Amino acid sequence: MHDETLAIHGGYSPGSTRAVAVPIYQTVAHDFIDADHAGAIMDLETPGFHYNRINNPTVSVLEHRVTALEGGTAGLAVSTGSAAVSMSILNLLGVGDNLVSVPQLYGATYTYFAHVLPRLGIDVRFATDDRPDSIAAVIDERTKAVFCETVGNPAGNVIDLAAVCAVAHDRGVPVIADNTVPTPLLLKPIRHGADIVIHSLTKFVGGHGTTMGGIIIDAGTFPWRDHPDRFRSMVEPEPAFHGVRYAHDFPDAPYATRCRTIGSRNTGPALSPFNAFLLLQGLETLPVRLPRHEANARAVAEFLAAHPRVAWVSFLGFPDNPYYELAQRYLRGHAVSIMTFAVRGGREAGIRVFNSVRLFKRLLNMGDAKSLITHPASTTHRQLTPTDLEHAGITPDMVRLSVGLEHPDDLIEDLDRALAATG
Ligand SMILES: *Cc1c(COP(=O)(O)O)cnc(C)c1O
Repeated sequence: MHDETLAIHGGYSPGSTRAVAVPIYQTVAHDFIDADHAGAIMDLETPGFHYNRINNPTVSVLEHRVTALEGGTAGLAVSTGSAAVSMSILNLLGVGDNLVSVPQLYGATYTYFAHVLPRLGIDVRFATDDRPDSIAAVIDERTKAVFCETVGNPAGNVIDLAAVCAVAHDRGVPVIADNTVPTPLLLKPIRHGADIVIHSLTKFVGGHGTTMGGIIIDAGTFPWRDHPDRFRSMVEPEPAFHGVRYAHDFPDAPYATRCRTIGSRNTGPALSPFNAFLLLQGLETLPVRLPRHEANARAVAEFLAAHPRVAWVSFLGFPDNPYYELAQRYLRGHAVSIMTFAVRGGREAGIRVFNSVRLFKRLLNMGDAKSLITHPASTTHRQLTPTDLEHAGITPDMVRLSVGLEHPDDLIEDLDRALAATG
């Protein structure tokens, strides 16, 4: 089926109630028939549900639907995108291991990598930039995964994913791709070789700024068994789950199965059924919302580019954007509705625009129907040192917009008035 159809029907067949909307199964647990049934479900031998921290029927529809859109074999939904980031890493890495990452990352992901993982004994080796050879240069014997955002938030860089996957696979290392910004409607990382895809569903998928959620999707293709010394958690008997060997016992989706039975079961960031329901509502209209987001973003970007007070605009739809060629290739000729720009007068002028808008909401989110403005250096990325900021591609003057679904003329009028305040 096509994406538009999957977004509405994927992963759901009405049961005996014939409910058309996916029901909210607001229940912590499910009644076992008897001890054998309980055992079979808990060992994952029989499909079924037992406890909400591990699985739930409403959440399961969301998992199947996003997994179908991404072309993976199984997914695990979690409470936030950040929970997806941390679980995706801790599912493979432990003390003494290292993660290789591009530097252009979402703020909380950057600080997690730079300052939290090292305290757990996990070294993060940042590549100098997002080029495949820069990434290859920092992979070593202890590297267990390469991490990138397919389109960086807020840097707006597009990864040459096929080339990054090629250099990682060449060294026997899987690639974890955060596909939050383009969504599977614009980019399907698994088709380009990604082994694990994660999302913050809080952004475009939810689409209305109401609900947090995340997901981890297993492509089911990484050959864990070819590297038994490197991926012990995937190939050796797991004492925390009665000795299963994930890569042998769950060959279709060993990584996602381990996330569910170790990550979610033992650390607990489960998604609530009600949030899964709201995220499903968002997903249904994602295919019609994205083109409008993009058209509005283009109108706003063109206005900004022509404005005398604007120093620069970074929008993926402009041919002079350094990532234009990669956007053409990976986003099927589309642009995302996130853009950055700077006002003449630098950081102070940028903050004045931020303070002066009336229609754009000043907040930390993106992908909402409402247009949003952030000044990353003083908000999402304020915990970063000046060196970290530069490394992550954030300049002090950078203003980021997430262009929503209002009429573009109203958005332009708002920005025009705010820019006049900088004069
Ligand atoms: C927002 C975001 C996250 C974190 O997601 P939350 O749902 O806010 O926890 C991770 N990665 C990217 C690219 C994001 O934009």
